[in-house]
Amino acid sequence: MVMAYMISDKCDACGKCKEVCPVEAIAKGEKKYAIDAETCVNCGQCVDECSSEAIAEV
Ligand code: SF4
Ligand code: SF4
Repeated sequence: MVMAYMISDKCDACGKCKEVCPVEAIAKGEKKYAIDAETCVNCGQCVDECSSEAIAEV
């Protein structure tokens, strides 16, 4: 089963999640950050780092 994390519109583009991602699955988009589901290994570290609670499992 493929699990993935998604970044919602609550993202304020602080960039903290990108810093902790071990596989560089997070990149800055136009208004918010986004997770590449193909690269993400579902470690969950970005969820703990996000103070805006913008990252959730889907
Ligand atoms: S840590 Fe949260 S608010 Fe900051 S860039 Fe990542 S998803 Fe957006
Ligand atoms: S769950 Fe882990 S691998 Fe996936 S985007 Fe977040 S920090 Fe990166």
